[in-house]
Amino acid sequence: MYTCEIISVGTELLLGDILNTDEQFLSRKLASMGIAVLHRSSVGDNRERLAEEIRRALTRSDIVITSGGLGPTPDDLTKEVCCEVMDCPLVEHKDQSEKIRRYFEKKGMDMPESNLKQAMLPADCTVLENDNGTAPGGVIEKNGKCVIFLPGPPKELVPMFTDQAKPVLAKYSSGAIVSHSIRTMEIGESALAELAGDHMDSPNPTVAPYAKDGEALLRITASAESAEKAEELCRPVIDGLVKKIGKYVYGVDYDSIQQRVVELLRENNKKLAIAESCTAGYTAKRLTDIPGASAVFDCGIISYSNEVKMNLLGVSEVTLKKYGAVSSQTACEMAEGVRRLAKADLGISMTGVAGPGSDSEDKPAGLIYIAISDGTKTVWEKLNTGKTNDREYNRYVSASRALNLVRKYFEKII
Ligand code: ATP
Ligand code: MG
Repeated sequence: MYTCEIISVGTELLLGDILNTDEQFLSRKLASMGIAVLHRSSVGDNRERLAEEIRRALTRSDIVITSGGLGPTPDDLTKEVCCEVMDCPLVEHKDQSEKIRRYFEKKGMDMPESNLKQAMLPADCTVLENDNGTAPGGVIEKNGKCVIFLPGPPKELVPMFTDQAKPVLAKYSSGAIVSHSIRTMEIGESALAELAGDHMDSPNPTVAPYAKDGEALLRITASAESAEKAEELCRPVIDGLVKKIGKYVYGVDYDSIQQRVVELLRENNKKLAIAESCTAGYTAKRLTDIPGASAVFDCGIISYSNEVKMNLLGVSEVTLKKYGAVSSQTACEMAEGVRRLAKADLGISMTGVAGPGSDSEDKPAGLIYIAISDGTKTVWEKLNTGKTNDREYNRYVSASRALNLVRKYFEKII
């Protein structure tokens, strides 16, 4: 098996200013290709330290991949250092300088001369085109070693790796690892592990539970000599587990509940309206993060005050006085009201105490009511997250669970 290491370049990484998502992305992809990532490191924009890091990586690994530091400014020096270490002088690649010129022309901007630095590449490297920025990447293969330099911005690195670097790396790949996630809600990590039973001890595929942001997932990972064979190992295990976990599963390999909800609304040709109190637009934001949400989302109302709950959504004054804003009755009237207002097929709502702390003893922080209405019936749920000091979590979970109500509605669980 070939070995690889990833070096992330950028002082902002060391200062903790940005999260190293490039490293995570590359690690996952390389693992799935059967290339062993044995070391990862981060180094600032410093010529000597970067050269030292690349040299050290080359003494113990076959492949070294760098991310970041390909920009036009003087502190961007990754490519220069890679080439110096590999002893590959830089020459101007005319097609690249033309491409960079055209990139600026298209944007109606003058090209700073410093950008031409990005067209300087080793004479015999595999150039990785950058269709989302100006800095090309490159693959240098020499003396049995392979050095790949990629740009830092994930929007540039991800497509460049997927479309261009991966095919070059195919010859270093031995076997494949594939991984799938069964995503669930309303069931805990340990209950999920119990349901998974004997699978938890299986060496291939492995089954592991994870909890995150009020959700739990089971990751099923198989390794085999090809991706197809690894998929074959996963499939029966996933099918069996999905059946066993039943109504708690909202999908396999979905990124989020909102992705599933947009899909369900589209499939059923229904439109949704949302009335939010404690989440203040968070649910609508998450729903509209999904491309194509406009076909299924009608309107969102942030009804934070009682006046707006009454005047805009038609929540009755009696309800608010008798049961309070954080109550199943208010949640139901909000869902019904927003559905009516938007003339949507479905209305959902969430009202709760996000915290930290609460003004009322019988309504602690983390107490949330959510509801869904289709004009004929209205269903509500009460949640108590138990987190009295985590405003962000309470709001996130309110949104997730309200969206999950939509999923349960279509799957006829409620
Ligand atoms: P640019 O041409 O934009 O300068 P670059 O290849 O020189 O690109 P950097 O200057 O190192 O890359 O980083 C540019 C931006 O890319 C950073 O501010 C950050 O937003 C993002 N970025 C860089 N490295 C990473 C990383 N490892 N993970 C996630 N994002 C990153
Ligand atoms: Mg830069």
